[in-house]
Order: sequence, then structure tokens, then C-alpha cells
Amino acid sequence: MAKLQIEQIPVLRDNYVYVVHDPASGATAAIDPAVAEPVEECLSTHGWRLTHILNTHHHDDHIGGNLALKRASGAKVVGARHDAQRIPGIDVEVGDGESFLLGTAAAMVIDVPGHTVGHIAYWFPESHALFCGDTLFCLGCGRLFEGTAEQMWASLLKLRSLPDETMVYCAHEYTQSNARFARTVERDNAELIGRIAEIDARRGRRLPTVPAPLAVERATNPFLRADIESVKKGVGLPGADAARVFAEIRRRKDAF
Ligand code: ZN
Ligand code: FE
Repeated sequence: MAKLQIEQIPVLRDNYVYVVHDPASGATAAIDPAVAEPVEECLSTHGWRLTHILNTHHHDDHIGGNLALKRASGAKVVGARHDAQRIPGIDVEVGDGESFLLGTAAAMVIDVPGHTVGHIAYWFPESHALFCGDTLFCLGCGRLFEGTAEQMWASLLKLRSLPDETMVYCAHEYTQSNARFARTVERDNAELIGRIAEIDARRGRRLPTVPAPLAVERATNPFLRADIESVKKGVGLPGADAARVFAEIRRRKDAF
């Protein structure tokens, strides 16, 4: 059974590109390649040949390297059927509940609209790996550029329901600033306070805070906790509907 080898490449200001390799078949994918060169370097270091490019959504800092990488390798570009016209070089269109094979490794596609309307996530259950682009961040979530708060909350609930041991590979290192905001929503969450100390220590040594286990996100990320009464109270909306509370948390973060 195929457990993927996952390489994390920091690029641009705060993006992460992931290169994932299935040792059983040699299949190798670049996930959200913002730029091509660091991916090429990673491939040559490992002696891997790029077979796939997986995009979560259409923003430049996720698709910028698509065409150069495709030209150099012939890799197949995989992206959202709902957003096919905005994914450069798309070959394979996928949607919610569908799975596809990266060599011998199965990936499930989950539609997660909100940040953009055509945003998708890739979940590799055997490798406990979730590539969620700009939907779920460590201690945060993406801004609502195209979708509604209701859509984003529904998308986050889908991700929250994945197994505890799932590792969240998000596309940005935003954790430390997200942590400063999270603390304003839940002042008494002991697990959050402990996590923030760890995050500050890691960033102090310039280490990544990504990936993080989904179980930890569930316990500390305010955007996954809008249905918890103490969080509702924390933003002045006791008893309110979860989607409404989520919208308020997102609004506060936008102004933070
Ligand atoms: Zn984005
Ligand atoms: Fe982004």
C-alpha cells in the first residue's frame, strides 16, 4: 500500500508548495506550484520525474508554475471541474466525492467553496494527508473572496469530519498571525495557549508550523469551533447559529 513521500517547499513570501511522491510507482505530483524552479530543484535532488500537477484553486500563487512545469515534464494538470476555465493547462477535471490515482495512491477530492467558488481539497487517506490550499490554515481559514460565510462554514465542516490523524498541509505559513487573532476569540482555551507557545518557539527558529494534525486544529482553530458555546460567547453571540458565528469570526479577522 502506498504511503507518499511528501516534500514541503517554502516559496514566495509565505507559500508552501508540496511535492508528493509515490515510491511504489514513481508517480510524482506538485501541489499548487506557485513557481516552477524550486519544484524542478526538488525533483532533480530526488531524481523524480513529475507526472502530475494538482491545483486547489485558481489564484496565481497556486497555479503560477503550471505551464512551465507541464511544458518541461508533460505532467497532467488536475483541477476543479467547476473552475476548469481558470486552471492553466488543465487536463483532468475532478469534483466532489471523486477519487483518482496518483500512481498507486488514491486521492479523494472534496469541494470546499468559500475562498473561491471552485476551490477543492485533495485527501490521501492512506497517507493521512490533506492538501487544502487556502481553505483551512493552521489556526485560520482563507478569506472569503468569492463565496459566502455559509459556504465556507459548510466546507470547513467537511474537512473537520476527516480522521483525527489527518495532517493538514495548507498552502501558507500564516500560523503565527492567526494565533494572535485566535487568542482574542478564546482566551481560556488551555490547549490553544500551549500551542501558541510552541508556534512562537518554532517560528523563532524559522521552522515551519505546517503541517498540523487535524485533531489539534479541531481543538484550537476558532474557525472550526463556531458551533461551540464558549466560542459563540467569546464573540458576543451566545446561542447564535454556527454559520452566523463563523461569519462574525471571519469579519473580526478581516479587521484584525
Ligand atoms: Zn488563494
Ligand atoms: Fe494563496
